[in-house]
Amino acid sequence: MTEKSKKIINEIADVIIENKKYLTKLDSAIGDGDHGINMTKGFKKVKEKMEAKDYENNKELIKTVAMTLISTVGGASGPLYGTAFLNISKIIPDADFDLESIIEIGETAVAGIQKRGKAEAGEKTMLDTIIPAVDALKESKKNGDSVEEALQQCKIKAEEGMKATIDMQATKGRASYLGKRSIGHQDPGATSSYLMIKTVVEELY
Ligand code: ADP
Ligand code: MG
Ligand code: MG
Repeated sequence: MTEKSKKIINEIADVIIENKKYLTKLDSAIGDGDHGINMTKGFKKVKEKMEAKDYENNKELIKTVAMTLISTVGGASGPLYGTAFLNISKIIPDADFDLESIIEIGETAVAGIQKRGKAEAGEKTMLDTIIPAVDALKESKKNGDSVEEALQQCKIKAEEGMKATIDMQATKGRASYLGKRSIGHQDPGATSSYLMIKTVVEELY
């Protein structure tokens, strides 16, 4: 299972690196234009670390991802994503992921981001992608959907959440300095979160 997780992390890293310019462009409109640069720096380091070492289990692997993001990404997003992965590292199982464990992973990621950044849904941040994605998984579980159906819904809701940030006014992070002028632009962190969720979903089914 650690090999599978390594592959997923590698895919996430590649997708973030491929979208460096796009993420930076989004951050230029409402921030300081470094989100793609920050994230690429972090995920390049993650790839290097994973190549250099074998990991005993998923917990150890994800903990390394977390610590690497915290120490290399910087900005607001580094500690936020780092804390999300650190929380995930504490609970991630080694067995195949069932819907229950995927939900737990999502919930603990949200809890980590909120503990660190104190944002709620609707403030035009990465949480506006991640919270609807996790809610979709929970809704699917309630409906008795298969893991595949749940993951599909999760991806759809993550994308909707990301796009919904366009019409929001930022009230957290650098974009909040713009006040109403932050409206009309898609949030860079919501976009990197969507890219990550999309990648995980596509790797899992
Ligand atoms: P910085 O703003 O320090 O340059 P980045 O550009 O790397 O950092 O990341 C910006 C992203 O971080 C935003 O687009 C937003 O999604 C996210 N963000 C900022 N503050 C918060 C917060 N308090 N909670 C959740 N996400 C946040
Ligand atoms: Mg920035
Ligand atoms: Mg910055």
